Amino acid sequence: MRITAVDSFVLHVPVTGGHIEDSSHKVDRWGVPMARIETDEGITGFGYTGTHGHLPTDRLIAECIKEAYGPLLIGEDPMSAEALWNKLYNCSPIRWVGRSGITHLALSAVDIALWDIRAKAAGAPLWKLLGGDEEKRIEAYNTDWGWLHLSLETLVSGCKRLVEEGYNGVKIKVGSSDIQVDSKRVAAVRHAIGSERKLMVDANGKFDLPTALHMGKHLSDYDVVWFEEPLWFEDLLGHVRLASAIDMPIALGEQLYTLCDFANFVAMGAVHIVQADATRLAGITEWLKVADLAYAHRLPVVPHVGDMAQVHLHLCIAHPACDTLEYIPWLKEVFEEPARVRNGRFCVHQMPGASTTPTESAIARFRVA
Ligand code: MG
Repeated sequence: MRITAVDSFVLHVPVTGGHIEDSSHKVDRWGVPMARIETDEGITGFGYTGTHGHLPTDRLIAECIKEAYGPLLIGEDPMSAEALWNKLYNCSPIRWVGRSGITHLALSAVDIALWDIRAKAAGAPLWKLLGGDEEKRIEAYNTDWGWLHLSLETLVSGCKRLVEEGYNGVKIKVGSSDIQVDSKRVAAVRHAIGSERKLMVDANGKFDLPTALHMGKHLSDYDVVWFEEPLWFEDLLGHVRLASAIDMPIALGEQLYTLCDFANFVAMGAVHIVQADATRLAGITEWLKVADLAYAHRLPVVPHVGDMAQVHLHLCIAHPACDTLEYIPWLKEVFEEPARVRNGRFCVHQMPGASTTPTESAIARFRVA
């Protein structure tokens, strides 16, 4: 099989309620810069990354997919996973202008599209191609009622509704300007969902070290499962100091972009829950190496879902470090086989591929010029 064409386009999909906020971001649409790769055997692969829907930069990612990676892919065998990734990352001049950011997100979309082709060629869902077991159940936790801009009443009623729907866990945002307000929200949600359900807390990199130390000690009072992105994303030493001073497990990884970044955090004991995201980590090929690294250190991998769980569900079924996955329903109207949660567990994808093929109607509805 040979690659015959590489194209790209951008979808913008509205988020729940038209707008969400955490401590660091305001988002009204999820950006989906998408790669479409065609082959001489009639198989077409789709892959994408996830953004905050800023059209000028989404266009740059799309252009990078088509204009920078496209010519390197034409005529290649899409089945050569490692060789192709090595060509696109290690042996191309593109790496010189970015080992994270636009070029890396574009490579993520390309690599995921290539894995979609491999699974479609095998006639199997990706989890099966990667050796997964259909009987493995992946628990879903939901973040979509935990946003920082929601009133206390809306936050509490939303989280309560999620556990009534069957979710065993919810995640809420902290990092408002007043740490007392954060504490009050954590306490109220813990009270509302009861002691049996899981509660996770995410600061999106907002706190300085003294505030994170204070918060981290306080969270133990509410049986919080993990403290996510407490400090600035790349502050390795800060996370080392924090991890040595609090009992609360630290989760991070959604803004780490390479295997080496993860290796450093793992080696220093600065992360306990590894949140690798294939849409930011130059795709599935590198994600698998990060998951193996975590597994070798007996650390769980709970992916951040820049893909809104479509691809990561396959990876979680396939990889022994995974048993839990985040769910945010923003892309549920985009794909032929959208991720679905029933009674708090993900339904297992059955169609061949990586579940990244958008419907024609979704393209017509969400594509931006
Ligand atoms: Mg997060």
